Amino acid sequence: MLTDDLDERLRGIVGSQGLIEQRAEFERYCVSFDGVFRGSARYIVRPSSTAQMAAVVTACRRAGIPMVPQGGNTGLAGGAQPTDARSVIISLERMRALRAIDPSNDTMTVEAGMTLADVQMHAARVDRLFPLSLASEGSCQIGGNLSTNAGGTQVLRYGNMRSLTLGLEAVLPDGGVWNGLRGLRKDSTGYDLKQLLIGAEGTLGIITAATLRLFPRPRDFATALVGLPTPAAALDLLHLARAHLGESLNAFELMRQECMKWVLVALPGAIPPFAEEYPWYALIEAAGQGEPGTLRSPMEEALSKAMEEGLVIDGVLADSEAQRRRLWALREGQAEAQKAGGAGIKHDVSVPVSQVPEFIARADAALAKVVPGIRPFAFGHVGDGNIHYNPMPPLDVEPQAFTQRREEINRIVHDIVADLGGSISAEHGVGQLRASELAHYKSGVELRAFRALKRAFDPHGLMNPGKVLT
Ligand SMILES: Cc1cc2nc3c(=O)[nH]c(=O)nc-3n(C[C@H](O)[C@H](O)[C@H](O)COP(=O)(O)OP(=O)(O)OC[C@H]3O[C@@H](n4cnc5c(N)ncnc54)[C@H](O)[C@@H]3O)c2cc1C
Repeated sequence: MLTDDLDERLRGIVGSQGLIEQRAEFERYCVSFDGVFRGSARYIVRPSSTAQMAAVVTACRRAGIPMVPQGGNTGLAGGAQPTDARSVIISLERMRALRAIDPSNDTMTVEAGMTLADVQMHAARVDRLFPLSLASEGSCQIGGNLSTNAGGTQVLRYGNMRSLTLGLEAVLPDGGVWNGLRGLRKDSTGYDLKQLLIGAEGTLGIITAATLRLFPRPRDFATALVGLPTPAAALDLLHLARAHLGESLNAFELMRQECMKWVLVALPGAIPPFAEEYPWYALIEAAGQGEPGTLRSPMEEALSKAMEEGLVIDGVLADSEAQRRRLWALREGQAEAQKAGGAGIKHDVSVPVSQVPEFIARADAALAKVVPGIRPFAFGHVGDGNIHYNPMPPLDVEPQAFTQRREEINRIVHDIVADLGGSISAEHGVGQLRASELAHYKSGVELRAFRALKRAFDPHGLMNPGKVLT
């Protein structure tokens, strides 16, 4: 088949509503939400069913055209932007149905284009919780969350997308539909295709639906923001909070003073949480099924013990849902804070939880030596060992001059991460941003296995080329 009649074929499959032809509309799909990654595409196709998806993939494969699956386009690694201008972007935005919900099995099956916020809303309607929670949840889609193995603020208790998923349906690069929508907690029948597709960033196939785990919905929250002297104090506080709050500990998020300062600038109407500034802050939340107020006293006990031990300098415990939301806004506004604070070089790293203070101390010292005055923003999910370590330029250095040093700075930060047994991407994925870093840090054995897998699924290299593997 000639590529010239591909648009006719695609229109025949998805109808005129499913094919975007106005070039003016391409920008929304070809450019990442923050404008950092720009690509070009030949077509934007929006199938509305798995059958249409399979027919689109088959048509593109026959025409030898690269395919780029796209969800809500909130990814931070350039995974959803084409690196080849001949590509077809395949958007999941018309596949957003709730296929089934089974509260007595604690599962729901949704199409991949459903937004995370809608998944949470459908779970809440049957008095259940779907615990994945990201600041981008109004726009990101469950297919994108699966493909990046998204994490967020509640991994500490519930795990990331790998732990929250029981089954998948996907269209593989040859156009075949794999229906693995099983709501099973136990299944030992050979290779786990679902876990291969989760975190594959669309390089092994297109996820069209998923069966997700649901949990009891919490009724009681105890949420505190505390000021801390050091990351080491945060680590000790994490263990102390665990000892007092046990499994109810939901979130433990760290923020550096610089991050708090800029979120107060970036969020209209934000009020400083304390009269004084502190070197570090932690947002701690416990949640349970008991009567509202039940978790307040164990949280208070944990915090007063932490003050006695000098781990916490000051703290505030939310008195109302409105105050809880205001505290969370300071954490969830970090994307805006980073933008307001300058053009940073972002790192989404993880190290063993016990090594977080060591990582921050070594990275701060190493960067200060090569870029005096550098402002190392750092925040993240310290309970998972995942720090978003985003150095900003010194105030007297042009952002462009600073970002030109990206490779040198990446090497310094990632070498420390590797030395501490960590990962260069904890939850945002590799995309195009970290593909060469992945090649640098993975062993030859692991890279050979990755390439063999890619060839087995996608022998013609048409599924999201240029991502994950260079
Ligand atoms: C303000 C903000 C806060 C964020 N906070 C977090 C956070 O706390 N934790 C976190 O993990 N991430 C976070 N992110 C990053 C982002 O929201 C996640 O990576 C999210 O999972 C991406 O989903 P998406 O639907 O937007 O995917 P996209 O950006 O559209 O795509 C991401 C990747 O998945 C592939 N893909 C998308 N859909 C499919 C599909 N159906 N089948 C196969 N491949 C597919 C794409 O090709 C691409 O490689 C944040 C982003 C923003 C803007």
